[in-house]
Amino acid sequence: MLNELPSQLYINGEWCDASDGARFDVLNPFDESVIAQVSSATVADAQAALATAESAQKAWAQRTPRDRATVLMKVFEEFQRRVEDFTRLITLENGKAYGDAIGEANYAAEFFRWYAEEAVRPEGHYGHAPASGARTLVHERPAGIALLITPWNYPAAMGTRKIAPALAAGCAVILKPASETPLTSLLLMEVLKIAGVPDGLVNVIPTRQTGPVVDALLDDPRIRVVSFTGSTEVGRQLLTGCARNILNPAMELGGNAPFIVCEDSDLDAAADGLMMAKMRNLGEACTAANRIYLHDSIAAEFTEKYVAKMAALTVGNGLEERIDVGPLVNRATRDKVHELVQDAVAQGAKCLLGGTMPDGPGFCYPPTVLTDVPAQAKCCHDEIFGPVAAIQTFTDEAEVIDRANTTEYGLVAYLYCGELGRGLKLSEQLEFGMVGLNRGLVSDPAAPFGGVKQSGIGREGGREGIREFVETQYISTVI
Ligand code: NAP
Repeated sequence: MLNELPSQLYINGEWCDASDGARFDVLNPFDESVIAQVSSATVADAQAALATAESAQKAWAQRTPRDRATVLMKVFEEFQRRVEDFTRLITLENGKAYGDAIGEANYAAEFFRWYAEEAVRPEGHYGHAPASGARTLVHERPAGIALLITPWNYPAAMGTRKIAPALAAGCAVILKPASETPLTSLLLMEVLKIAGVPDGLVNVIPTRQTGPVVDALLDDPRIRVVSFTGSTEVGRQLLTGCARNILNPAMELGGNAPFIVCEDSDLDAAADGLMMAKMRNLGEACTAANRIYLHDSIAAEFTEKYVAKMAALTVGNGLEERIDVGPLVNRATRDKVHELVQDAVAQGAKCLLGGTMPDGPGFCYPPTVLTDVPAQAKCCHDEIFGPVAAIQTFTDEAEVIDRANTTEYGLVAYLYCGELGRGLKLSEQLEFGMVGLNRGLVSDPAAPFGGVKQSGIGREGGREGIREFVETQYISTVI
């Protein structure tokens, strides 16, 4: 188990304080106690990280794909050896329940294995131009140095989903983790060091000077890729910043997932699927089911089953393994969830379970089920990001697809229906980057995760994830 929490910046393979000595508090969301004081990087620290990344990247790009893959596989093995440490630290700083945290830790580790296997399969081809007869040689080069910015809801996986493909492609990275949850990223550096990742290749700079530090990096021509996971609002600002040096942006942004249950569905399977899609990570997920649409004819039966499952969940300290639902990450997130519930009820929704603000300290919120939620309620438009299921009903297939698509987001949709052909036909009509068809979970290291519309640009995971970190070069010659 962890004795001492890493709390300094990690630059050039070494732990160091911020150049101005500044630190900030990281809280345990269960009781609001301070668990660590973490160094807060300055612009000078970010520039030091960039200088070291530059030389490390050149050497790393020269190594063979097999060599890079071997290092990545060692990271996977070392990460697995420390899964328990990661699980406890994720819970400690984020609050999520132990079961969610161990799921995240294993998912996070898996990106290193997947990209160890992908590193040795660079894409490319050799062709004949039909008119000129010139030979066309197409291959992929590492893009260079990537700036990675991650959110607090998956402190391990949102980082590894970027770091692993970047290293596989031959890039170096600078990671700026969320200020609520920087500790897990710092612990990951212990793993990388032991596994033999060269010094300077991965640097971690938590900071409370987020705007100036990120801006300084965006303005430096050595940064070539910006890979961001977070809110659409911040993504929009970063895209503007990327325009200054024409940087390649990879954006994993917000969602507003519909969860549709048709009249011919297996209702027990659909209720289990909704538990997964709504309550995984206690609803603090961009993939969380946000708008639940039940066919009129099964709505009462389904709701009864679902409320029973939600009522059986235990709420409390995520570090206790018997707890299903830990606290939300911070006060602002918890208060926003409660405001969305109050708004829906004020507009006519019925609250069948939960919906009351518990006494503090800490940021727990009870599993909540709302029915008859009017389409204009705020929770149908904003990400709820909490353990609140907002249920509406529908009568007609075409109407529900139209309602599901009526959002500026397009990350993931879930659809339960009895007949696979019908399910596939409806899935193709859903304007989302991912569809869970009779499944409440789509995240998989082997699959391209990502959204359309204002949910983002690019994909993470799968073969596609490595493409964010390479540039295609074409060589033309005549023989
Ligand atoms: P956020 O407020 O957008 O913050 C995300 C990251 O951006 C943090 O590291 C944050 O740093 C940084 N940041 C904030 N303001 C910035 C600025 N002006 N310039 C540069 N960086 C800035 O999002 P969050 O509240 O942490 O995460 C929740 C959001 O992430 C939700 O919208 C969720 O849907 C989305 N998300 C999307 C995916 C996906 O794959 N599509 C996955 C997970 C989460 P500080 O912490 O220092 O402010």
